[in-house]
Amino acid sequence: MLGLMQDYPLLVQTIIDHAALNHAEREMVTRSIEGPIRRCTYRDLRTRALRVAKALRHEGVGIGDRIATMAWNTDRHVEVWYGIMGIGAICHTLNPRLFAEQLLYIINHAEDRILFVDLTFVPIVEALAGKLPSINKYIILTDDTHMPDTTLPNAIAYESWLAAHDADFAWASFDENTAAGLCYTSGTTGDPKGVLYSHRSNVLHGLVGNQPDVFGLTSKHVVLPIVPMFHANAWALAFSAPAAGACMVMPGAGMDGKSVYELLDAEKVSASAAVPTVWLGLLQYLEENNLKLPYLDKVVIGGAACPRMMMETLEKDYGVEVIHAWGMTEMSPIGTTGKLKYSSENLPYEEKIDLKLKQGRAPYLVEMKITNDEGDDLPRDGKTSGHLLVRGPSISSAYFKHDANILDEDGWFDTGDIANIDALGYMQITDRDKDVIKSGGEWISSIEIENTAVGCDGVAEAAVIGIPHPKWTERPLLIIVRKPGSDVSTEDILAYLDGKIASWWMPDAVEFIDEIPHTATGKIQKMALREQFGGYKF
Ligand code: ADP
Repeated sequence: MLGLMQDYPLLVQTIIDHAALNHAEREMVTRSIEGPIRRCTYRDLRTRALRVAKALRHEGVGIGDRIATMAWNTDRHVEVWYGIMGIGAICHTLNPRLFAEQLLYIINHAEDRILFVDLTFVPIVEALAGKLPSINKYIILTDDTHMPDTTLPNAIAYESWLAAHDADFAWASFDENTAAGLCYTSGTTGDPKGVLYSHRSNVLHGLVGNQPDVFGLTSKHVVLPIVPMFHANAWALAFSAPAAGACMVMPGAGMDGKSVYELLDAEKVSASAAVPTVWLGLLQYLEENNLKLPYLDKVVIGGAACPRMMMETLEKDYGVEVIHAWGMTEMSPIGTTGKLKYSSENLPYEEKIDLKLKQGRAPYLVEMKITNDEGDDLPRDGKTSGHLLVRGPSISSAYFKHDANILDEDGWFDTGDIANIDALGYMQITDRDKDVIKSGGEWISSIEIENTAVGCDGVAEAAVIGIPHPKWTERPLLIIVRKPGSDVSTEDILAYLDGKIASWWMPDAVEFIDEIPHTATGKIQKMALREQFGGYKF
């Protein structure tokens, strides 16, 4: 027997409708690409999103068409995002930090029809345009006054394009499983792969992301999503924040410490989210200028491991709660967050930090487990490491235009991460399966050595790779970038590590380099380091 409840499809446009009706006056504040701060309300935003939808329809765009954006987090990007999705087209967010060949591959693979591009990225797109046959219009996210001279064919300023259309338009209606968004993983191995979100997965993920132990946003919050919409959907904030009626402060192109601080202070931001590098920049700026963060309550840090120093400094010196998060593009992206449970409230401070530094526990609608190489489930004892598998309604079941099956027979997706899970449900990543160092039949966590090493005075960044070893199979090499002006030595670093990691994990050597290569999403490029140190002998 079926239940007798309304058939109400979970479509993302219902989020912006809800915000415009119930939080009509709530603001979105944007540091515009042109410079000045711009303000609108959720009511305005919906009106403009409807105009985008109408204008797209006028261009002949319909269900399933891919429309690309290469844009910072701004009001215009959000209205374009809802405008595209609201007619059943697919918003393909492009990461401008990808290499030119990757962008070419991605745009052509997606067969994007129109590209919305921020002023900042016009030169990147100009260099590619000759090889993008599917794109028939370039809409530059600015007005006529700021329109650059461009070689882009069929280019138009966004405001002029929009001017021809009013908001007298109704969203399309369709099945909730219709595709809504497309985001390619950076593809550290092989070609980038397209993750195709649906309306249903996005709506559910917006709710998942807003559970109290995840972002927990309310209509009182002022949230600064620093994590870009092109990096795994700004961790669902463009759905969670309007659904909650939280004020959104959009940072535009300003990710440096000074720009971030200015918005945090001027707009009295209470919650924010970004990768560790952004917080590092902010902390440096605060220290240099002797500033505090009186309004900020909590920050979510993820995308890469949050260093202990960062968590302690933010919590102790600035009174900001740090929520460590883990996830991936394929998971929409939130997988876990590390808020403490009731059972941990009376732990000593150091132990609380130990627990919060793990990658966190699964919210409702994310299932996870660890298995060994044979696929057998491993115990949740906080010690045994295995392959981390996940399952849920906002997790990929396949890649766009790829035949390969990516789920096992029970529907689990292998994240490619190696992790342990403790009895309380906290998961801790110990490595990527391709980065783990196999030494004498045991696994050494490159990540744990890196995280410990960055705590040593004078160390700016650390990376660990496995070097082939005749007796042990592999042994760890620690690669260090010194802080400017520091002369920290191999001996200093090894002495610092002594006692903090298992003795058999001790790197066999330390090398100093000027810069560690990063991927487009800010992760250490271990492949590049392995090439750079190919043939290395201890
Ligand atoms: P890509 O950078 O390849 O596009 P994602 O942005 O989806 O991929 O990154 C997903 C991966 O990033 C995870 O599988 C994990 O290895 C790593 N990651 C994400 N968050 C954390 C974290 N808090 N700690 C450690 N690793 C993390």
